[in-house]
Amino acid sequence: MNPYLVRKVIYPFHEQIMGRKTFEHLAELERLQSLSPAQIEEVRFRKLRELLIHAQQNIPFYADRFTHAGFEPQKMQAIDDIRRLPFLTKAEIKQNIDRMTWKDSPGGLHRYNTGGSSGEPLIFYFDKRRQAWDKAARMLTHRWWGVDVGDKELYLWGSPVEETRQDRMKELRDKLTNELLISAFEVSQSNVGAIFAAMQRFQPDCLFGYPSTIDLFAQMAKKQGLDPASLGISVVFSTAELLYDHQRKAISEQLGGIPVADGYGSREGGFVSHECREGRYHVMDPNYVVEFIQEDQPVPTGEDGEIVLTHLDAWGMPLIRYKTGDVAQPGEGACSCGCGFSTMQAIRGRTTDFVVTPDGRWQHALSVIYIVRDIEGVDEFKIIQHELEDVEVLVKTIPERYPTDGAERIVAGIQKRMGDSVRVRVNLVDSIPREASGKHRYVVSKVAHKGL
Ligand SMILES: [Zn+2]
Repeated sequence: MNPYLVRKVIYPFHEQIMGRKTFEHLAELERLQSLSPAQIEEVRFRKLRELLIHAQQNIPFYADRFTHAGFEPQKMQAIDDIRRLPFLTKAEIKQNIDRMTWKDSPGGLHRYNTGGSSGEPLIFYFDKRRQAWDKAARMLTHRWWGVDVGDKELYLWGSPVEETRQDRMKELRDKLTNELLISAFEVSQSNVGAIFAAMQRFQPDCLFGYPSTIDLFAQMAKKQGLDPASLGISVVFSTAELLYDHQRKAISEQLGGIPVADGYGSREGGFVSHECREGRYHVMDPNYVVEFIQEDQPVPTGEDGEIVLTHLDAWGMPLIRYKTGDVAQPGEGACSCGCGFSTMQAIRGRTTDFVVTPDGRWQHALSVIYIVRDIEGVDEFKIIQHELEDVEVLVKTIPERYPTDGAERIVAGIQKRMGDSVRVRVNLVDSIPREASGKHRYVVSKVAHKGL
């Protein structure tokens, strides 16, 4: 499809029928990024105040919370006033989900289920307003790297759902908007050739996906004598995992010396920050209040703090002072790229892994994570691949909600993904041990750790 047509007609029309003001927000972000930090601050303060007034009036959970804290959003003087409110934890979201949504959200609410990046399964809701702002932020950052709406974007992305009508609709939409999705779970030594051929036909301008999967794909292609650099991709956008320096270097080299631009965000947190051409992670200031917290206090530049988010456009299910479990440092000073948004640095966390199937496929850990976390009453879990055909699943349940056939479903689901010869043991436990780093990892594969 002609990129100009996609950019000017098809995509704007699609967003309009979806009820999202994505392109208006994109224009607004373009305008705001060239303003001074003080001017951007004014916009954020106004948006924050509006959000908090809305939350007080329309969301019972927050109305109670504000009353309890003696907090009156109408009387706010500065952004920092939100520090008088308590943090929002994943556990609170789980317990209060029914009292946290805005029933009258324009365009309705969309339910999502996520593992988060370092916690437990979490159900949450999106509204159109938030989706549109997150999309606009993504478009803006793509433009920083010379990729505009309508340019060809290849997704190497996890999509565990079986083919449904909705997927076929998405396929059609992808064709119309110059996007192509290749499932990250399909990357294997045996079909890397076919994937490569599909990419060659598509001729992508940019590649978006998990760095671990892109790195793996490039390595496998090279092993088979294929040259990923010949695909003509101009930039890689990595996301959803920690991007290691060695990965960045390897991906860049394998794809012909192109830049790798990393983004930080999550399903529930949204599109939080992204690298510019100067290699700094700019926070999407007009859409967020981001705090870096240690022992309940903000940390100074150069120190690690937990990322705490307030999404200024999540009106359907407000996230106010949401503790992400991810760690980063606040950035300092203006950036020479010209964008006035603040920065963050040294992002840690978000590590995921692969599992290896007996027939030699490297599957992204999310393929098995989805199976377990979708079962009701699973509070926390960890999947350990001890040997190629030996998988152990530790599950901490909420007993009254965990179904009697829970274990059976986990076994069947994992065998479907990995192969029937894999022995799956499900053990119910009272707590899940953390990694030495203190971080929770859903999947640890001792097989994958041995390397390709
Ligand atoms: Zn910059």
